[in-house]
Amino acid sequence: MQAQTEQKTIPVYGQYIAGEWRSEGETLPVINKYTGEEVARIVKASREEVREAVTNALETFRRTKLTPTQRYEILMRAAQLCQERKEELALTMVHEVGKVLKDARAEVDRGVQTLIASAEEAKRIAGEGIPLAQPGGENKLAFTIRVPVGVVGAITPFNFPFNLTVHKLGPAIAAGNTVVLKPAELTPIIACKLVEILSEAGLPAGFINVVNGLGPETGQYLLEDERIAMFTFTGSPGVGRHIKSTTGIRKVTLELGNNSPNIVHEDAPDLDRAAELCVTRGFSNAGQACISVQRVYVHRDIYDTFVEKAVRVVQSLKVGNPEDPTTDVGPMITEKEAKRAEEWIQEAVDGGAKVAVGGTREGAVLYPTVLTNVTPEMKVMCQEVFAPVISIVPYDEIDEAFREANESRFGLQVGLFTANLQLAMRAAHELEFGGVIINDVSTYRADVMPYGGVKDSGIGKEGPRYAVQEMTDERIVVINL
Ligand code: NAD
Repeated sequence: MQAQTEQKTIPVYGQYIAGEWRSEGETLPVINKYTGEEVARIVKASREEVREAVTNALETFRRTKLTPTQRYEILMRAAQLCQERKEELALTMVHEVGKVLKDARAEVDRGVQTLIASAEEAKRIAGEGIPLAQPGGENKLAFTIRVPVGVVGAITPFNFPFNLTVHKLGPAIAAGNTVVLKPAELTPIIACKLVEILSEAGLPAGFINVVNGLGPETGQYLLEDERIAMFTFTGSPGVGRHIKSTTGIRKVTLELGNNSPNIVHEDAPDLDRAAELCVTRGFSNAGQACISVQRVYVHRDIYDTFVEKAVRVVQSLKVGNPEDPTTDVGPMITEKEAKRAEEWIQEAVDGGAKVAVGGTREGAVLYPTVLTNVTPEMKVMCQEVFAPVISIVPYDEIDEAFREANESRFGLQVGLFTANLQLAMRAAHELEFGGVIINDVSTYRADVMPYGGVKDSGIGKEGPRYAVQEMTDERIVVINL
């Protein structure tokens, strides 16, 4: 169903509870991140509305069961509808995220694949036979089944508001759960559209309810509702920590930040490709991806050549209006965030860093920036920069590069370019990350692979197959024959 409209043009998205939109209450604007125009409004959910959403999700979970085939069919149909509405969905993200059109189209394509992979997982949920091969276990048949956890609370970030929302809703539905979703307040429209599409695809009312609003209000009300069995969260480490400490013994999946290292060894098979990937994946989505290239360690023998190549790639990037299909780098999510990144660059420069290219800002648009001469304690190195800024650091011995890569509170993904299989396998064992990517950058992610970090990057895995495991409980059944 369509959201109500205010003054004919501005859509208003309120709460979606039991299959109906409600739009009473205080509203917040949703802004076009490039032009500053208001494109929609959301209504802040009250504590009572959040309670109602959870009550409805719980009642739906207890009352209505969908068979695996029904879940498969609904998710496949939703994938098809998203494919048909690709351009509209992509433009929604161009406006509310400031995502460049080509990245927005790619995100819709990925979300469609994530829906398909989730649909397939609905048919593969299985336990295992357990041999009770101990004295006293005679004449007993034991096996496990996987059962849905119940109501899942899903809290999503602003940066990939379509595919990352699919990564939560798809597996939750595939596993037989119901969901209360709280989308990021800066980019909520695409999530509301996705929920409408799932409904059009045949998902019965109550399987997904949406509550809109600010994190510390609407999000906090959700966290405090003990009837939610599990939270799946993607966002910043600070909020992740708060969620873990608020939710007691309930299950949580936390997908948090990173300051992704990438190592380019002297034997890297194709230096042009390595430089191009480090630059383009450091700056796609204006650097606002949790696995964006951030720290690049390059062997000293190839360092100067690599920096030269990287600067040339940056100079070829088109920066500006995200709606132009040829733009490579658009605005950041807010001017405040762009200013924060600019300050971090300035701080690095004050400490001796050199700007090889970039460093300037116009409103929310920060020009893609390459820094050299950096030191480990600079914010652009040791914190998550979450902006189009990469730092290139030379090393002499590979042990030094491994040590510096590991010297981080984060551990999501790392990239290594090398032609040496032994070194690649050593990296797989010694680099302390959820994913080690050889001959590609830390930013590589196939949506079907297990994805999630260690240390402050979070706990639990996403990727439909792995998320279904997280969103189901294992139950043992023993039959005395
Ligand atoms: P954020 O933590 O500010 O917000 C994420 C969500 O949490 C939003 O919906 C927000 O409203 C909600 N929230 C905020 N405070 C809350 C509270 N007190 N209680 C409940 N909910 C609350 O993150 P963001 O700025 O939207 O996203 C950027 C962060 O997300 C970066 O750190 C990035 O690395 C991380 N991220 C991680 C992954 C991953 O898969 N590991 C993917 C994308 C983004």
